[in-house]
Amino acid sequence: MVASSNDIRTNSDKSSIYEDRGWKRSDPVPDHIYDIHKSLVEEEVIIRSEIISCSKQFISKIEKDLPNPDKKRRIKRCHYVNLCPICNNLLEQFVEKQMNPYRQVLLDNGGKNILMTFKLRHNQKSSLKHLQKVLKDSIKKLKDDNIWKRTLFPSKYRFYVKTEYEISWSQENGFHPHCHLQIGTTNPMPTDEMKSLVALAWKRIVTTVSPNKFFIPNLSNGVDVTDTPSGKHSKDKDPYGMDKLKRMHKKSHKEMKEKFKKLNTTGTERIKGSFSLLQMQTNLKDVFIPVLKEIYRTTVKRFRRIFFNVNTHHTLISKISSK
Ligand SMILES: [Zn+2]
Repeated sequence: MVASSNDIRTNSDKSSIYEDRGWKRSDPVPDHIYDIHKSLVEEEVIIRSEIISCSKQFISKIEKDLPNPDKKRRIKRCHYVNLCPICNNLLEQFVEKQMNPYRQVLLDNGGKNILMTFKLRHNQKSSLKHLQKVLKDSIKKLKDDNIWKRTLFPSKYRFYVKTEYEISWSQENGFHPHCHLQIGTTNPMPTDEMKSLVALAWKRIVTTVSPNKFFIPNLSNGVDVTDTPSGKHSKDKDPYGMDKLKRMHKKSHKEMKEKFKKLNTTGTERIKGSFSLLQMQTNLKDVFIPVLKEIYRTTVKRFRRIFFNVNTHHTLISKISSK
């Protein structure tokens, strides 16, 4: 398969990348992510050759590092951040590292890290591609709306915005692309008031973006708003024990493989609940393989999954640069 120019890739590593990103020079990707990559290749969810060979070899650094002749190689990554679990994990770590100092300064100075989750109404029959487009266009419009720009997060209050698109799936309701926005803000407006304002705006905007009135969310389900100092999505579920799997991995690689095998052969019982991409990738029940193939095939043109923007006009910026 030939890579099309629409697929988003990060820039190639530079020799300074580890210092830039604050990583140790050892591989920062955890083992269970490599296992997910391997399983997706084995199950032919990942079929593109560059992604299959991601992280399988070392390449020489662009410039020779004369003072450190031993450190002349780096791991060759594919950089398909929306399609490769390894490169996706690296990007998430990078954005997290990038955001941390800003969040800390904000919290130290009485600001709030507000997490907003935006959803659409949908059913089993809604196409993933179409839902992604409606979601992306609506988020873009929202950030440009007067409620957003003048009332909720005007420049004097808005310190940063982290935008994160996620896809979950359930047998009952099909694909559920949604968007998490984390806004660092010094607006003293109570969180409840923000929620009622943004819920109205979201409903209005989706109504103008979507040709299908079915997608329009109702006021109570379209948006979640919480004050989240940690920056973590506290509501993310862990029904298949991802954390346990990670811990097990430290204990024994063999045990982990057996757990995967067991999960793979549980058969065709009805799958209850809603699953994140990570949960589906970790637990390749037969039912998830076609779902994952659909997700991996339907990466919308110029669809950036996660990114972080800082407002350099906010007064707190001086506390960042003076550190
Ligand atoms: Zn990769």
